Amino acid sequence: MTVRSLARAGALANAAVVAVGLVVVALLPSSDQGAPEGRTRITPVPAPSASRAAAQPSAVESARKVKANEAGLIPVIMYHRLMTKRRASIDRTPKQLRAELERLVREKYAPITAAEFVSGKFNVPAGMHPVVLTFDDGSPSHFALDAHGNPKKNTAVEIIYEVAKKHPGFRPVATFWVNRNPFGIRDKAEEKRAVGWLVGHGFEVANHTYTHPDLHRLKTKKVSEQIVKQERLLKGIGVPSSTTFALPYGSAPKKRTAAREGAWDGTKYHFDGVFLASARPSVSPYAKGFDRTAIPRVQSNEKKTGCPVYCTQYWLDWLNKRPGERYTSDGDPAHISVPKKLRGKITPSRAKSVIAY
Ligand SMILES: [Zn+2]
Repeated sequence: MTVRSLARAGALANAAVVAVGLVVVALLPSSDQGAPEGRTRITPVPAPSASRAAAQPSAVESARKVKANEAGLIPVIMYHRLMTKRRASIDRTPKQLRAELERLVREKYAPITAAEFVSGKFNVPAGMHPVVLTFDDGSPSHFALDAHGNPKKNTAVEIIYEVAKKHPGFRPVATFWVNRNPFGIRDKAEEKRAVGWLVGHGFEVANHTYTHPDLHRLKTKKVSEQIVKQERLLKGIGVPSSTTFALPYGSAPKKRTAAREGAWDGTKYHFDGVFLASARPSVSPYAKGFDRTAIPRVQSNEKKTGCPVYCTQYWLDWLNKRPGERYTSDGDPAHISVPKKLRGKITPSRAKSVIAY
């Protein structure tokens, strides 16, 4: 969204995107390390693998212990500009972002990127909940490098790092959906350096169209042109092909599939996930109801700053009150753990990896 789209933003105020963070699970100790001299070394425990998907009793037990529910809801949080003085309801202050990230830490959320989320390949520690942090429109308040080559004070990236430094379990990753002038940087070499830093540090930079039009008003050919031009721009500054795409204003083209795949001027595109701008947490990517062409997000906002319902304060409270609805990780990326009564919620293509307890 842009600030010019305030009226529109009002209508979409309930839309929110949650970013899911991915946290690395502790590795099993190897037999060569940490064995005190003079004592028998312990035989290493083989790591679980997808090919050995049959549930070990211990895997069932540990899933039960943390009440794992990998069919549950995942908040994909949507942020726009950060401003010390907010001008639009969708703006957040650096202080508000910091407070929200601190809340996510307290409530055991672990960030993953949107690309990781749609791929279903993410590794969140047992008992924790994935969250996707997403930032739209490539604002200078999201990212810039300072004179020392570090993220500039009070940008989104600097704040994410600051929180991660205080809370080492909080993995500093996020997704940036950008347009033709990512982060407002004018110089091409500077742009390359900036996005290179982000991609190199595990952040996702991806397609949000070239000029941010309302795709519903465009002919299909123009929709594809907007997407391909942006893919070319991103490629030109060293960003890998986007696997995710966020619809400007959350507005889908008349031919909905054109947002997911198509071609223009001889260049094809295909996304694994298309994200909306509203208005609830997403179902798990392993669940039957997961629609990768229309993934909802939750707008970051709260009651006292203009969003009584359906923004982050509302949904994070809602999920806290209903722990059984929320995605809780089993800590084992090779398996999908759910309480027995939810087994039927997992998509049949994932049935082999299910642990139902
Ligand atoms: Zn936008």
